[in-house]
Amino acid sequence: MTGNPDESLTIDTHHHILPDFFWQATENAHAPVGGLAPLRWSKEASISFMDDAGIDVAVVSLSTPGVHTGDSAKARALARRCNEFSAELVHAKPDRFGGFACLPLPDVDASLEELSYALDVLGLDGFVLFTNSNGVYLGDPVLEPVFEELERRRTVVYVHPNPSPNAVAHSLGLPDNLLDFPTDTNRAVAQMHYANRFARTPSVKYIFSHAGGSIPHLAARFAIIDEMGFIAGGEQRGAAADMFRRIYWDTALAASDPVLRMLRDVAGINQVLYGTDFPYLRRDLAVSSKQRILQSSELNDSEGRHSRGQCVTPFSAPIPSFARCDLEGK
Ligand SMILES: [Zn+2]
Repeated sequence: MTGNPDESLTIDTHHHILPDFFWQATENAHAPVGGLAPLRWSKEASISFMDDAGIDVAVVSLSTPGVHTGDSAKARALARRCNEFSAELVHAKPDRFGGFACLPLPDVDASLEELSYALDVLGLDGFVLFTNSNGVYLGDPVLEPVFEELERRRTVVYVHPNPSPNAVAHSLGLPDNLLDFPTDTNRAVAQMHYANRFARTPSVKYIFSHAGGSIPHLAARFAIIDEMGFIAGGEQRGAAADMFRRIYWDTALAASDPVLRMLRDVAGINQVLYGTDFPYLRRDLAVSSKQRILQSSELNDSEGRHSRGQCVTPFSAPIPSFARCDLEGK
């Protein structure tokens, strides 16, 4: 911890756990998630990495593929086990860990039950949702009851990519983390915007991984669609430009000067959160990511302080460290 009340906390909002039982339930040894096999995960490895990288708090989440790989009963059980594991981790070290709970989407009833359990019983801090779950994207009307509840509970929703359900997307001889993950993030953001999912959930605080895929680069296209008005529902939806400035975008695998410049222009630097993608990104690159942001010529001093993890708005109570961050940031 920094120990200095004048310094903001560095919070890693994109930090994965891979407990052995999750690995065994979801991992195909011949096709590691995204094309990269991460280091074996442990709580000690997370803390060692955080200490080396200068991270005060990591908000942990599952990574791809989430808990639902086709069997709803197994997904429900795996979600419960993962969420209880995360809660145990957070409660053991509340000064170092927060936790995003997972949901067994696209099973709506099971997800509503787990949503309540994760918040009311386990006290977790929000939810990790995947861009698609078995091909069901987050703007799909079938998920409306889940988003109504997320809105009612005013939750933080952190969106992580999943592989596209389209087989052609995986036939190019490229790892998913190069092109397919960012592209699936684009699909999720665009569908959520134009299906008015964002508009109907004004109290939900959304964080999108990896600077939103290449969504910020597409801002001009969104603006043209606004201008031409050819997708219904524009009055409720509002302008895409405002959506870009409402959402939070993390820096995992996206902390280069051109990306920071674009995020500043399209979203505003106050919407940029620090994320590492631990343990998927090679450790030395992840460790140096904070310094790369701090040294970026794209940021002035106060912006650098913000981007290194002063994730102010999405997290208020109940985590004391985040409440402290909130006081410092506003
Ligand atoms: Zn990730």
